[in-house]
Amino acid sequence: MKKIGIIGGGQLGRMLREAPTAARYTIGQLVPNLDCPCRKFSNLTVGDWQDADTVAAWGQGYDVVTVEWEHVSRVGLEKLETMGVEVYPQAGVLGVIADKGRQKEFYVERGLPTAEYMLWDGEGVLPEGVELPCVQKARTGGYDGQGVQVVREWGDLWPVPSVLEELVEIDREVSVVVARGVGGQMVHLPPVGMEFDPVANLVQCLYAPVGLAEDTLNKCVRVARETAAAYGVVGLLAVELFVTNEGRVLINEVAPRPHNSGHHTIEACNVSQYDLHLRAIAGEALPEPAQTFGGVAMVNILGGEGHGEAVWRGKSVLSEHPNATLHDYEKTMTKPYRKMGHVTVTAPTVAEAKAVALGVQRRLEVVPSAVSGVNS
Ligand code: ADP
Repeated sequence: MKKIGIIGGGQLGRMLREAPTAARYTIGQLVPNLDCPCRKFSNLTVGDWQDADTVAAWGQGYDVVTVEWEHVSRVGLEKLETMGVEVYPQAGVLGVIADKGRQKEFYVERGLPTAEYMLWDGEGVLPEGVELPCVQKARTGGYDGQGVQVVREWGDLWPVPSVLEELVEIDREVSVVVARGVGGQMVHLPPVGMEFDPVANLVQCLYAPVGLAEDTLNKCVRVARETAAAYGVVGLLAVELFVTNEGRVLINEVAPRPHNSGHHTIEACNVSQYDLHLRAIAGEALPEPAQTFGGVAMVNILGGEGHGEAVWRGKSVLSEHPNATLHDYEKTMTKPYRKMGHVTVTAPTVAEAKAVALGVQRRLEVVPSAVSGVNS
């Protein structure tokens, strides 16, 4: 039985371990503490994933090591690669992706389409040719909308090494998740559309099919597959794309792991992104993914106002919608905008799925116990 080690103990690790394929491997995890969404599983090792020696000492017990979170010690992963452990995504791929500036250069070097940009060191004079408004992205450390801002006045720039990108007129944000096997076999999930909450800058609702012209969707798929092939990544690569008002398809960024835009595949496809990731990194053949419902929508359930012990309200709404599935990540503590769970809704059409999903999202709440009056 192949031994697979996962770095991270969050919801993505949890759904990887819940995938039917997981039963075919011995799986262990390196987690920051035992109070995490993966606490119900066996073979958890508590340790600091940013510490190279910890990562190397833990990982050498596995045939394959993967991550559910990319901000881990790359030196540790490189050590494992040197020892002969298969690390997927490869440390080199993570190195490019961890730096948004390097990521942009990678696309330009390979002729892959992406928005115009300049690099800025965060303190010197601005590079020539940058115009306002532009989008500032911290080169490292940002995620889930943190570290990204639209700049309308020069005084608003954060003094950090950044990518300064043209403000694109986005018609639609689309994600295509590609799975690439050890031998280079590639399959992709049907493209999904992403709608953002403008305040939280987080995906609010995700849906498929996307409802764009077929040639535009084909372009999205082609760009995503070319991107995965260019990285040579093994495992999943979620490629986030902008479709512009003029029909251009631009790569925004990528994630080399299961992605928010693939959660719905658990209920709505013949194979989930989690199964695909495990099969890909284990060196198995990949089935051709297909959506098994006319429409699907997924909404994130985010923490409401306040910090504290998490209490869910409104779960009874699920009993009114047999086509809605709640995934409660069972996080003990909540804070504003923390991803606490998600709901997937399948229906004959996207419009029906979206309507139910947004309705359920409005009625579900996660608040700190002091606010809820429970346990306070
Ligand atoms: P994160 O890494 O935090 O997810 P992204 O780079 O994906 O950040 O940006 C978050 C969101 O900001 C995008 O999904 C998009 O809505 C908006 N955005 C990012 N870059 C641009 C751009 N160049 N033009 C217009 N909007 C953008």
